[in-house]
Amino acid sequence: MLRRLVTVRKVTDIQPIKGADRIEIAFVDGWQCIVKKEGFRKGQLGVFFEIDSFLPAEDKRWAFLGSNFINWNGHRGFRVKSHKMRGQISQGLLLPLGDFPEVTGKLKQLEDEHGREEAEELAQKSSFEGALKVQKWEAMDNKTGGWNETPQEPIPSFIRKTDQERCQNLPNVFEEWKDEIFQESTKMDGSSMTVYFVRNDSDKLQALPEVDAAKQPTVVQPNGRFGVCSRNVDIAEDNNDKAAGPQYWRVAKKSRLAEQLSALNRSLAFQGELCGSTVQSNFEGFPAGFHDFFVFAVWDIDAQRYLPPKETEVMAEQLGLRHVPVVGYFPLREIATSVSGLLQRAEGVGLNKRKREGIVLKHVGSDFSFKAISNSYLLKHGE
Ligand code: AMP
Ligand code: MN
Repeated sequence: MLRRLVTVRKVTDIQPIKGADRIEIAFVDGWQCIVKKEGFRKGQLGVFFEIDSFLPAEDKRWAFLGSNFINWNGHRGFRVKSHKMRGQISQGLLLPLGDFPEVTGKLKQLEDEHGREEAEELAQKSSFEGALKVQKWEAMDNKTGGWNETPQEPIPSFIRKTDQERCQNLPNVFEEWKDEIFQESTKMDGSSMTVYFVRNDSDKLQALPEVDAAKQPTVVQPNGRFGVCSRNVDIAEDNNDKAAGPQYWRVAKKSRLAEQLSALNRSLAFQGELCGSTVQSNFEGFPAGFHDFFVFAVWDIDAQRYLPPKETEVMAEQLGLRHVPVVGYFPLREIATSVSGLLQRAEGVGLNKRKREGIVLKHVGSDFSFKAISNSYLLKHGE
């Protein structure tokens, strides 16, 4: 599912904050967001900027946030984060529709075409980050070119990028999926890593660029092509950058993944989290020098879908790979019946008995999955 950062949302409730006379809480879907008092009424639409929205300083509408601007990826602007005010968590930025002609213009156009009611519904399904030049903030070592100036190949288009929708954006999930079985796993806080193997006889092979086998001997296997990617980049085997880059290949070689995937002789992509002492802030607390790949999914390249979670666990074990910790398989109603219940459950310990980032729920019968990030993690990490 494509992440939508800037959306039109309906305020489902407004609650006062004890002892505060200038602010109150607005609820939109599964989010609670502190707003100026009397800015919104229940049932009203607003423009909602989800956490991790990066708002560009050039747009004068963000001038009021100027004292909190940061530099990121060559741009100046404001990163929307979780924070607490008067003991209440606030996530996202909710602003009046009227501040955004880009949005009201679209609404007007939809209204002319479809009538008022349908226009409101359609507008809520649109996303406005493009129109408002809002980007998704990401830790830099995940991003194209983040650790290396040299141009790099993007992750092959035949592989689904790892991404998880936040449960707050799926307020109806607990009713609609309550009897369905989900795998509950620990969300690990490292960097997304994908290793793939494409057989020589697969029609997907032509999507890959030519490579120089002398420079990238492991990439060219007798029966197909092997590759190692971060979330966005297909990393060259001869990349000798000092930062996080080489860890991907080092970890892949340590587990002999090229040989192992070539021996399986199936066009598959193993996706997991690269974690270790030099990755991100080593939230999981691994000892110095430790790095490993924790599998969470296997993408079937020819079928263009994920293997069922249980099969993924079995395959990881067969290849001698670690898998992210699996809490178990349960009907959704036994895991949680509401967003707040799931967020409660997301708090808790992960690997190494440390507080975890959160949990990921994967439906066993389809590609549907979503995440719940612990609010205490978000607050602690300034996210
Ligand atoms: P985020 O880190 O908030 O962008 O959430 C999505 C990312 O979580 C994915 O791209 C994965 O790299 C990562 N992740 C960590 N643990 C898991 C897990 N158990 N299942 C799926 N994704 C995971
Ligand atoms: Mn992450």
